Amino acid sequence: MEKLHGVLMYQVVIIGAGPVGGRLATELSSRGISTLMIEEHSEIGRPFQCAGLVNPPAMQAVNLQDTILQDINGALMHSPSGIQVPVGNDEVIRTHVVCRKKFDQGVVRQAMEAGSHLWLKSKPVDAEITNENVNLTVDHDGEIVNLKCQLLVGADGAHSWTRRKFRMGRPKEMMIGFQADVQGLEGKDNWLEMYTGRNIAPGFFAWVIPTGDSTHRIGIWSKADLLDGKSMEQCYNSLISHELWKDRFADVKEISRYCGPVPCGLIRKPFKDRVMVIGDAAGMAKPTTGGGIGPGFRQVEAIIEKLSKCISEDKLKSSNLAKVCKPYKSLSKDLDRARALRDLLVTIPDDEELDSHFAMFNRPEILELINEIGDIEHPVPLGLALLKRVPEFRKLALRAGVKLLFA
Ligand SMILES: Cc1cc2nc3c(=O)[nH]c(=O)nc-3n(C[C@H](O)[C@H](O)[C@H](O)COP(=O)(O)OP(=O)(O)OC[C@H]3O[C@@H](n4cnc5c(N)ncnc54)[C@H](O)[C@@H]3O)c2cc1C
Repeated sequence: MEKLHGVLMYQVVIIGAGPVGGRLATELSSRGISTLMIEEHSEIGRPFQCAGLVNPPAMQAVNLQDTILQDINGALMHSPSGIQVPVGNDEVIRTHVVCRKKFDQGVVRQAMEAGSHLWLKSKPVDAEITNENVNLTVDHDGEIVNLKCQLLVGADGAHSWTRRKFRMGRPKEMMIGFQADVQGLEGKDNWLEMYTGRNIAPGFFAWVIPTGDSTHRIGIWSKADLLDGKSMEQCYNSLISHELWKDRFADVKEISRYCGPVPCGLIRKPFKDRVMVIGDAAGMAKPTTGGGIGPGFRQVEAIIEKLSKCISEDKLKSSNLAKVCKPYKSLSKDLDRARALRDLLVTIPDDEELDSHFAMFNRPEILELINEIGDIEHPVPLGLALLKRVPEFRKLALRAGVKLLFA
């Protein structure tokens, strides 16, 4: 960090010290780029709004295995009428459940160890782009501070200040997630469960995730326009009091509950001259699971080499950043295909059709296919295989528009 005409100067200022901002800061600082993270809260990893699932590649990127509460080997999926489809086996770890607070703190600590600076209780007040740099005004724990940087990055989450300030559009979909941490639920320690049905999670699904020490996270996600006036809380109550499952949830004792947005669908142009957005701010969460940590890390990985070079050479015009962000095209296409498959198999079908899908999934040859190709992080290959190989699903593929799915 230097001073320019008496004003603090960083090469990069990142708004938001969540997992994606922290990951980007680590990669930039370890390449010798001076980086400041600005975080509005007084501690990292709060408030907590996450089911805590982190996939193995994302975990390997940060090596924060000490934050794992539980490994997950499979998922038991329930149809609206109670048909159960088990996917996975006890030998293969499919994903990890982490303590999000410890995980976020670990990622941000790595950034600081690599040389990044962190300002807590700080948020941007204004930003002005010039040919030479970005002039940033920050409220730093009640004091107004002026800063300069070459590049401003918004890693400031679903309601990103940066994205709004620079009028960069909106993610394609904004889902709502609701979750309760509970005690008193019995179940397999290393399997999560998914529940479907219009009454519980219209167009999407509910989850029950073991978090170790006999605790679980029960959550639901859906979209406002599918809820038909119902609140997420009412959906949650519909799950735990459902005729089929009320006995299972009878002894549940809630410890806490929270609600948060899940932005899915990369915004069209996540950059402008000397500004870019990343992670949830750019709409990177997955339309099939709502997971945003893995995709955010992949986004960082995809651009870091070219971005670092552009920062070092101070080539940060929109046209330069367009080249840096070129790999987003395939990431975005993946997300669009995953969304099309989700719509086809889960969001559009009514309960009766969903039940018939589950009945098909439950056939031994289909279960084998699901276990062979199925990957919760990359659902497109399995979805396409199902559409190609299961005669009953071929009609669906036609309905969806083969072009989009097989493009
Ligand atoms: C109920 C629920 C369950 C979820 N479960 C999972 C899951 O199991 N796995 C998964 O991968 N994802 C899950 N997600 C999504 C996941 O939480 C996000 O995709 C992920 O946190 C995105 O990381 P990020 O760093 O881009 O943004 P965030 O984690 O939102 O971090 C943004 C940071 O910026 C800070 N900030 C925001 N505005 C400002 C400002 N103006 N000034 C300064 N700081 C600011 C915030 O305080 C925050 O620290 C879930 C979401 C919800 C709602």
